[in-house]
Amino acid sequence: MRSFTTLVLGAGGVGKSALTVRFITNKFLDGYDPTIEEVYQKIVPIAGELSSLEIIDTAGAEQFTTLNELYIKSADGFILVFSLSQQSTIREIDMIRQQIYRIKGAAATTPHHHSAAAPGQYRKIPLVVVGTKSDLVNEREVSRETVARLGAAWGVPCYETSAKTDRGVREVFDDIVRQMAAR
Ligand code: GDP
Ligand code: MG
Repeated sequence: MRSFTTLVLGAGGVGKSALTVRFITNKFLDGYDPTIEEVYQKIVPIAGELSSLEIIDTAGAEQFTTLNELYIKSADGFILVFSLSQQSTIREIDMIRQQIYRIKGAAATTPHHHSAAAPGQYRKIPLVVVGTKSDLVNEREVSRETVARLGAAWGVPCYETSAKTDRGVREVFDDIVRQMAAR
């Protein structure tokens, strides 16, 4: 059976765990424990073939540890999560995004090329950006237009989701699976 690993990354409290748990169990995770890191597995059809999808729901504020570098190296896809209720969490995923491109891009270059990978290579890394908590309309800090601009600027698909109402959750995982399968 083919196996794909996806990392869920983003600032603490943005809803990484709630998004993942909604996808896996179809339930809304109300409690908040930022320290719990969990690995989930789901058997899904990928390119018409049953495959193992492993989802690593990361935890902890420190995004730039050696451990995370190893995670990034070995992962097939990336779900970068920010909160629509907290504009500042976009900065976090921008930094993570750049780190992913540096780590994965560098690995793709030959030893003769010490410069950074060409931008064209970046787009091949399976990656999805997710703005969470769309149900909290009164707390919203990030507009639809900002999300659309982000997607265009970064050249990645962006989704607005709610783990509470289930909005957009399926689409996120369908997209990342599609991208990973196409590689
Ligand atoms: P993580 O640190 O990124 O894993 O964040 P969590 O998934 O633990 O979520 C942090 C808090 O936000 C929890 O209290 C969740 O219940 C809440 N939360 C997460 N996603 C949503 C959402 O889509 N809507 C609402 N209303 N709350 C959410
Ligand atoms: Mg969590």
